[in-house]
Amino acid sequence: MGTPTIEFIDLKAQRQHIGQAMDDAILRVVHEGNYILGPQVRQFESELAAYCGAKHAIGVANGTDALVLVLEAIGVGPGDAVICPSFTFAATAEVVAWMGATPVFAEIDDATFNIDPKGLAAALTTAKKNNLTPRALITVDLFGQSADYDPIEAFCAENGLVLIADSAQGFGARYKGRVVGSIGQFATTSFFPAKPLGCYGDGGAIFTDSDEHAALLRSLHFHGKGSYKYDNVRVGVNSRLDTLQAAVLIEKLKVFAEEIEKRQIVAGRYTEALKDVTVTPHVMPDCISTWAQYTIRVDAHRRDAFQAALKAKGVPTTVYYPKPLHQQTAYKHFPVAGNGLPISERVAQEVVALPMHPYLDVATQDYIIEAVREALNREASAA
Ligand SMILES: *Cc1c(COP(=O)(O)O)cnc(C)c1O
Repeated sequence: MGTPTIEFIDLKAQRQHIGQAMDDAILRVVHEGNYILGPQVRQFESELAAYCGAKHAIGVANGTDALVLVLEAIGVGPGDAVICPSFTFAATAEVVAWMGATPVFAEIDDATFNIDPKGLAAALTTAKKNNLTPRALITVDLFGQSADYDPIEAFCAENGLVLIADSAQGFGARYKGRVVGSIGQFATTSFFPAKPLGCYGDGGAIFTDSDEHAALLRSLHFHGKGSYKYDNVRVGVNSRLDTLQAAVLIEKLKVFAEEIEKRQIVAGRYTEALKDVTVTPHVMPDCISTWAQYTIRVDAHRRDAFQAALKAKGVPTTVYYPKPLHQQTAYKHFPVAGNGLPISERVAQEVVALPMHPYLDVATQDYIIEAVREALNREASAA
């Protein structure tokens, strides 16, 4: 038997599951012709807000714009500090630098890879030492698991920081009975196709309970419009969610809760089968991950060989993220909290993500598990 074709994230399998309803919804938009802010956009926004329990959801062009618009809405700019993790996708810190403000990188927790509440005080001190005004904290719900929000919210309240949740990977996750999307003064998400709730192109959303900020954001993402389109009351941008993508997302949201359930089963099977040979993901008590990624840890020196062995068997793996942002060319001049971020640096050298999606069938998963165990055992005996 030859090597099978295994998808890292199988969007074709999802298409088969959703079926004709999706294609009908897309064609309806094509025929109706309301391509910009058609009725599907408002419908999706209200269903999305209801899903997580936020008062407002505002569709935007992508998850990066969602963060930029929030920073613009709260007036973050030069001289301001925004605390964020370094072990994340570049967009989290990029938006801060783009606004002319300074990202201050904080350390992550070794078990969850999310920002460590215990490291926040050091980040605040670093910001002040650099003569910056601490304004906000951006958390990331990395790989689908929420950050540890109870202590983070307390810290933000104590220090007058706006809490912005970058929930691009974790929208819909649960944190102690709360749904990610409704946590933070603002939450943002991305509908990039590979995200747990993805569309067929770019898209994003902002969540807030504030009527005032929601109105401001709706103006900012539409050229700073006032009472109507050609009433320009402030400088804004064009960052709208396409009607076509909203139609796709309405269909995807219908199966989203069921898909999160399916991901629990896939993740559970991986953990059961691999926990004796590797470090499997740690989910905090009373929390449910959306499993945007299923990430294990292998010895840094053996990671390349491990990935190569799996590739030879047709099993794709990916490293999210090979380098923390504070070590990247574009970000290495920004301040880091305390005496550096050794956990972020080590984790980046050890993580490997395995194929993960709701439609990963048992036979394929067993094949992956076998290949992973074999590769790890071989690496162990070579050690
Ligand atoms: C994907 C992602 C983004 C950016 O989303 P886009 O829609 O691609 O702009 C931001 N933050 C995190 C953590 C992400 O994973």
